[in-house]
Amino acid sequence: MAEQVVQPRMRGFISLTAHPEGCAVNVRRQVAAVQAAALRGELGNVLVLGSSSGYGLASALTACFGYEADVLGVCFEREPTEDKTATAGWYNLVEAHRLARESGRLLETVNGDAFSDDVKAAVIEALSERFGPLDLVIYSLAAPRRRGPNGETWNSALKPVGESYTGPTFDLRTGAVVAAHLEPATDEELAATIKVMGGEDWQDWIVRLRDAGLLAPSCRTVAYSYIGPEVSAPIYRRGTIGRAKEHLEASAAGIDATMRETVDGRAWVSVNAAVVTQASSAIPAVPLYMSALFRVLKERGEYEGPQEQILRLFRDHVGPGREPSVDSEGRIRVDDLEMQDEVQQHVAELWRQVTSENVDQITDYTGYRRDFEQLFGFGVEGVDYDAPTEVDRPLV
Ligand code: NAD
Repeated sequence: MAEQVVQPRMRGFISLTAHPEGCAVNVRRQVAAVQAAALRGELGNVLVLGSSSGYGLASALTACFGYEADVLGVCFEREPTEDKTATAGWYNLVEAHRLARESGRLLETVNGDAFSDDVKAAVIEALSERFGPLDLVIYSLAAPRRRGPNGETWNSALKPVGESYTGPTFDLRTGAVVAAHLEPATDEELAATIKVMGGEDWQDWIVRLRDAGLLAPSCRTVAYSYIGPEVSAPIYRRGTIGRAKEHLEASAAGIDATMRETVDGRAWVSVNAAVVTQASSAIPAVPLYMSALFRVLKERGEYEGPQEQILRLFRDHVGPGREPSVDSEGRIRVDDLEMQDEVQQHVAELWRQVTSENVDQITDYTGYRRDFEQLFGFGVEGVDYDAPTEVDRPLV
């Protein structure tokens, strides 16, 4: 497969194709935003788990192009094949690698299942041979499933816990606002979601890196979480995924103790704001909530995408020489703009009123949709979508 015209093939909350040039332009814009931020200081070696899109990609780009760090990323992306384009994350990293090379920086990727022993071993080998001990570890995996060493599989579920949920959501195929009805998760589904998205794997990574002598003195580690508003709480914070996030947040205390004892380091959870990513688009009700939220935040001039959030996280909290400010539960809060009372009151009003007929007028559905298509490299300004483009781009 070589050059071809690539069209979007949307299926609900996923596109089966990705546009390589659109993804490349997105990454160039993010890198330009990082460079324009003129961050101060340097980070030595950084590992980003979940580095190919969303908050993880923004973290890898910030470390590499903002703090001159040597960055190793881990992701789980599909490479291009005879009859399929690669996934968007693959093309994002192809461009990020190219830009890093161009500016003499070290950015490498291990593409494979971060839960697996093989990938952990490959990362330890790469770090030992070419990087050295880590100064920062970012845990930004958003995975639908986890496979264990003996072939067992846990699937994460996006369901309420203890009670059923009925409320508005988008039908992402048609854009209509419809009622979602979800039955509560079984105990097994809840346990599996915690296994996939809780803190166990983060802890496992830190222990293995420690045992391999790959945590530098004063190393820090940060994992990302989300809380969100009352309107999405039955599905999110009080649902299966929220329970997994509670587990992740609770694990931070044990990981922090390990970091302190072994390398005088620290571990934190950063609660980030709702942004359009592949992971967040899969959650019932959340795309509709984001459309209302973005309308309110944009009106106030307070909207931030993943790159702006991560720049703020590094500049104000976890970048070189910074000490984070934390909430009463020890968490960094970058979701402060989203969670302002006035913003949430306004969003709740929109939530009560929204219908298929008025969704375009009262929410930022157009903006949500544009961000969603851009995740896959479509609808990006400056890209000629009628022109054939090389889809067989290696990740080197
Ligand atoms: P995303 O879908 O954009 O990225 C997920 C990343 O994880 C990708 O790099 C993907 O390749 C990688 N990945 C998935 N499964 C993997 C596996 N088995 N092995 C290796 N890599 C794997 O997701 P995102 O929305 O940026 O989420 C990242 C983190 O941020 C999650 O913990 C999420 O809960 C959190 N968060 C997201 C939001 C939001 O609104 N999107 C808000 C707050 C916090």
